[in-house]
Amino acid sequence: MPNPLQNFDWNLRSCGLRGHVTYAPTEEALRDRLHVVTPAGEAWRCLRCGTYAVGAPNASGAADAAPRVLRGKALRDAFILRLLAVERGIRGLGLALIAIGILKFSSSHDVLQQMLDTYLPLVRPIADRVGYDLETSGVVRLIHEALNLKHTTVLWAAAGIGAYAALELVEAVGLWLMKRWGEYVAVVGTAVFIPLEVYELIDKASVLKAVALLVNVGAVVYILVTKRLFGLRGGHAAFEAERHGESLLEVEAAAAGEHPGRHHSPTP
Ligand SMILES: [Zn+2]
Repeated sequence: MPNPLQNFDWNLRSCGLRGHVTYAPTEEALRDRLHVVTPAGEAWRCLRCGTYAVGAPNASGAADAAPRVLRGKALRDAFILRLLAVERGIRGLGLALIAIGILKFSSSHDVLQQMLDTYLPLVRPIADRVGYDLETSGVVRLIHEALNLKHTTVLWAAAGIGAYAALELVEAVGLWLMKRWGEYVAVVGTAVFIPLEVYELIDKASVLKAVALLVNVGAVVYILVTKRLFGLRGGHAAFEAERHGESLLEVEAAAAGEHPGRHHSPTP
């Protein structure tokens, strides 16, 4: 199968969007490896895409203090995880609003019923257009069922939805910040709901549910494999080693006989 992203250069995409990352390290041998003088003036090697950018460096200082630059696969991972973070964030906010709405109107059935009667017809055309079946959607069904429930049960439902919203938002923040704990929360938090999603799909199949299940299974596998969680493929140590191996500054530092970030002793 042809892969349209085979020749896609994530480094160049990032540099095109945000500009090159040039840095003048104080260590002389390393400095020389990243620096050339051209007829157009001095040029510094971009720590992300590796090309020489004419002009003064963005910053300078000890190699240890250089910005950590994501490159290649790490950039692709960051892009995908941030897409996922946005999806989680939107879902979390939506669920939080629903939980607040239930709490707010749980004491008065009539108001909730009225709200449903007023707003459901308004969202129906949009839902129809994107192929989303409101009647079979878990949320609307939940509200309908909530109308026939006892007050305490409704409060429990709101608490449950609120907790789920909180989980989604924590996943969103952790994934966006690219924290390892965020990746663990996302993997575990997504995986535990997969059996429920499978059950829902079997109970009442819809394209949207199938797509959601595929996205979630894909996300779990993708994060597990690329981030090497739970000791997979060498675990955290292998993950860090891969990042170090991809760091242009560290590769050049090793070639220059220096080891920033590892056995570094401060230069006077
Ligand atoms: Zn660049």
